[in-house]
Amino acid sequence: MGAALAIFIIFPLLLRKRYMAKMRGSGGSGFGFGGGLFGQGQGTGVRYVCLTCNNRFKGGDCPRCGSKMKRADF
Ligand SMILES: [Zn+2]
Repeated sequence: MGAALAIFIIFPLLLRKRYMAKMRGSGGSGFGFGGGLFGQGQGTGVRYVCLTCNNRFKGGDCPRCGSKMKRADF
């Protein structure tokens, strides 16, 4: 149990270290891609994020858990 927990903690750290090194090597052009992905598109109606399970959906209740608790997602 302890060993498994240690792996879960250390493994993401190693991945991030490798990722950071890759970013530094690519000349820093990696940024902006994520912002463009989230910044545009989906111009059809308002989308909501379920406050219970974090699921994104359009209108009505959450199709995953049926909760009415939601907030608008822009
Ligand atoms: Zn939900």
